[in-house]
Formats: sequence, structure tokens, C-alpha cells
Amino acid sequence: MFCAYFLNIRVSYYYFIPISLIYMLFNGSLGYWQSWAHAITLMTFFWVLNETRIKCHTKRDSILLYLLVTIPFGGLLWFWMKLKFNFSWIVFGQEWIYLLIFEVLLYLYVTMLAHDSELKVRLARFASHDALTQTENFAAYTDAMDDYFHRSRSDNQPLSMMMFDIDHFKQFNDTYGHSVGDLVLREVASTVQTVLDANPLPATFYRTGGEEFNVLFPGTEVGDVKPVVDEIFEAINHLEIQSGEHKFNVTISVGVSAVVRDDQSPMDFYNRVDRNLYHSKRHGRMRITVA
Ligand code: GH3
Ligand code: MG
Ligand code: MG
Repeated sequence: MFCAYFLNIRVSYYYFIPISLIYMLFNGSLGYWQSWAHAITLMTFFWVLNETRIKCHTKRDSILLYLLVTIPFGGLLWFWMKLKFNFSWIVFGQEWIYLLIFEVLLYLYVTMLAHDSELKVRLARFASHDALTQTENFAAYTDAMDDYFHRSRSDNQPLSMMMFDIDHFKQFNDTYGHSVGDLVLREVASTVQTVLDANPLPATFYRTGGEEFNVLFPGTEVGDVKPVVDEIFEAINHLEIQSGEHKFNVTISVGVSAVVRDDQSPMDFYNRVDRNLYHSKRHGRMRITVA
């Protein structure tokens, strides 16, 4: 019961009926009304514990409610056993206290474990994600790129990449301040993510520099990636960002390419995409170069 409660396992309540019956059968206690009362108390205990968990939202509420439920139910469970085995009130009191100590220690232990694993999940996210745009960061990009590149070489699978840089981004900062620049970065990233989410192609999105982003498309040829790139490009062209009474439009310059046989390292691949991006920049910006 405690395992199911603490591990948050959904156990249907009616499972407890056969479990209790089998237990009582082995225990030879089917003929004792006190054991039936004990079993019903135990099932009610579990149900009340789960119901109170759904209702409490703060940590303080949750420990208070846990104690409020476990103290009387613990007492009631041992009360039936006292009647069944006829032991003294002192023994009853001791058993009740032992059960309470066990329940409190279990609660503290599980809370500590949960806190620890939450912290690990948060640290892992912090290490691989960009705090401003919530996209994956440069460290995540290099890891993924190494992995995808070597898999693409060994399995002879295509790997495509789109790289883009926001045009004249510095002007947003210089004219309206860095907070507006940050807003532009967030809006652009969220627009790209929305387009990627709506497309079935597997894709991972990274902020690899200040206003530079990369999208990796493992297992996809450039020809299949191009419509998604066009969609991202159009979505950003149509994006209207509002900050106070100001409205802005944003454009991007894009480079696209796929891994070729001559690429010896991820850097060769990266440099080609980068050259394509700067080709777009040099030829008037707001354009896509695929080569
Ligand atoms: P181009 O069209 O040639 O790309 O011009 P640009 O102005 O976009 O490029 P440039 O490299 O001159 O400027 C990029 C600016 O991005 C400079 C830097 O201060 C700014 N930047 C980098 N990271 C951030 C950030 O996190 N927030 C804000 N607000 N600005 C940033
Ligand atoms: Mg730029
Ligand atoms: Mg740049």
C-alpha cells in the first residue's frame, strides 16, 4: 500500500479485495471479524491517502494532511489487532508509535529522493538548454551533431542542416534596447519551433550563437527539408512582434546543406552550411542558399 502510494502507481481499488482475501486465507484469519475490519480500514486508508494527495498543492499542506490521515488510521489498524490478540493498551500504544515513526521516516526518505531526482532533471535541462529561448544550446548541438554525423556516415543515411542568422539584429538592440532584442529572439525561436512541431520530419532546433540558430534533420535529404525551410522562412517574414507601441518585422538569412561523401568531420559539413548562410548575407540578406 505504501509502495503504491509513494511510487504514485495507479492501483485500482478493487484489486485490494482479492489481495486481502488471499492474504487472510494464508494467514488463517478469514474467521476473525477484527481481521475483516483491519482489511477494510487498510483499503479506506489507501483511498483517503490518495484523495488527500489530489487535493493538496503546497508542501506544507501535503505533510500536514499525510499526518492527519496516517495518525488515526495507524491507530485504528492496531486497535483491531489489539482486539484480535487481546494485548495490553501499552503494547497497542507502542505499536501505534512504531508505525507512526515508520510512516514519517518513509515520507521524509521519499521526499528527499524526489527532491534529488527533480534537481537532477533541472540541472540536466539547464546544461543542455538556452535559458532565453528554451531551445537546445550549443553544447547539445555539438553532441547531437557528432552523433548524427557519425551515424549518417556509418549507416549511409542522409543528414541535413538549416542554419540561420537574424538580419540586422543589432539594430533592435541599438534602437530599442536589449530587452526588445531578447523579445525578438524568443519570438523567432518560438515561431520556428511551432513550424517544426507541425511538420512530421524529425528535427532538432538549437541556438548556437547570439542570433544564430541551427536545425538538424537526421535521416532527411535536402529536397525533403527544403519545404520546411521555406515554411520557417515565410513564417518569420510574416511575424509581427509587438513591444509597447512599437511593431517590428524580422527577416533571416539562411544556409542549407546535407552531408556529402567528402565530409571528413562535422566541421566540414558545418562550414559548408555556414558558407551558404554568408552567401545569403552577401547577396542582400532575407534569402535562402542551398548548396
Ligand atoms: P547581420 O545582418 O549581418 O547578421 O547583422 P546583425 O546586426 O544581425 O549582426 P551582428 O553580428 O552585427 O550583431 C549581432 C548582435 O546580437 C550583437 C549582440 O550584441 C547581439 N546579441 C547576441 N546575443 C544576444 C542576446 O542574447 N540578447 C540580445 N538582446 N542581443 C544579443
Ligand atoms: Mg545577424
Ligand atoms: Mg550573427
